[in-house]
Amino acid sequence: MSDKPPPSLPDCDELNPTALQVEQARSKILESINPSGDIEQLTIREALNRVLADTIKSTINVPSYTNSAMDGYAISGADIPTTDTKKLTVIGTVMAGKPLDIQVSEGECIRIMTGGKMPAGTDTVIMQEHVQRDTTENSICISPGHHVGQNVRQAGEDLSKNDVVFQPGKRLTPADIGMLASMGIAEVSVSKRIKVIFFSTGDELCDVGQRLKDGQIYDSNRYTLYGMLRRLDVDFIDMGVIPDQRECVTDAFQRATVEADVLITTGGVSVGEADFVKETLEKLGHVGFWKIAMKPGRPLAFGRVGNCQFFGLPGNPVSAMVTFYQFVQPALLHMMGIKDVAPQYLYLRSETTLKKRAGRLEFQRGIISNANGETVVRSTGAQGSGILSSMGEANCFIELPAEMEKVEAGEWVKVQPFAGMI
Ligand code: AMP
Ligand code: MG
Repeated sequence: MSDKPPPSLPDCDELNPTALQVEQARSKILESINPSGDIEQLTIREALNRVLADTIKSTINVPSYTNSAMDGYAISGADIPTTDTKKLTVIGTVMAGKPLDIQVSEGECIRIMTGGKMPAGTDTVIMQEHVQRDTTENSICISPGHHVGQNVRQAGEDLSKNDVVFQPGKRLTPADIGMLASMGIAEVSVSKRIKVIFFSTGDELCDVGQRLKDGQIYDSNRYTLYGMLRRLDVDFIDMGVIPDQRECVTDAFQRATVEADVLITTGGVSVGEADFVKETLEKLGHVGFWKIAMKPGRPLAFGRVGNCQFFGLPGNPVSAMVTFYQFVQPALLHMMGIKDVAPQYLYLRSETTLKKRAGRLEFQRGIISNANGETVVRSTGAQGSGILSSMGEANCFIELPAEMEKVEAGEWVKVQPFAGMI
């Protein structure tokens, strides 16, 4: 972790009982967390999806030499005829990777393949389909209408030497590691993976593979969390289900917070529930139990135990996912060193009526699709916080502001596509 002292946490008592707005809560979380700052050197393959720690400048021009973008004939632009056709003598052939040390003079040309280095005296390529070749005479005939410089890739037209190509904080995509390779860079400095630990709380929870007893439900949150964390490319440890007992919870918190940078729990943060969770956390660290003006996912516990950031998500499966995406994911991205972690939005017309009461911001589950050439969104249907199938069907959240009431079909709504969430 970085040497910088952690920023002070918001005073949570002050925030209660007035509910926090989603934006406010997200900013408070981001303000109170520092990027991890730990870096490591990796090969560019290993660096895929990781976050750059250094500025990358190009040490070469890419491409490093001016070359042909087509199979054809390299000529001097001065030889392009303006009225009649013109005959040029073919004096050699250049293949990709096989440059020719030759000077091309007026009235001459070179047969050239895509990627071949443009010989001295040429600046233009005529596609082979656009010439008439005379093999006996070893000449070509070109017509007017070509442009000087056509079908040529200039040295440095992709990247110029000393260009700043990437800034620190860039998450490396497939195109990025390809660009690093195109500059001949084999290794880069990236932020170390952050380590996340998580467990579920609740006596009603049964793990998959066990027989469900009366009054029990299967623990799904640890699996949705597993999936969301895997996509983020963090290291993680699943501690299983922790029973609703003071000693078990205390022990679990103590173990977890020394092992990881971040602890995520689900369940047990509702008002009045399992008071010893609150009690334990108050003893071990600085944790606030927040009420957020959102639906689903109103309760959220946030703070720090030792050097470990803590997120206590609600137990309801949809609430746990929504709060993860809105708060935990931006926080984890921020810790990784990514600069812009705010969700991305689209504005789309709703195909369906959306029910809502004024008061809380809602993250309804929606499906973006194409209808008659327009991209539109519709509701997945029932919006209960326990209906995990609504998350499975959805490909976006429809974010409806607190003050908004019912949305009529055809109205515009703000949408957070899931595709932008990783
Ligand atoms: P809680 O936040 O602990 O009050 O839980 C709220 C609701 O979510 C209850 O109906 C729980 O049974 C359910 N729940 C809590 N944890 C999980 C979990 N890990 N998987 C599935 N459902 C859960
Ligand atoms: Mg519970």
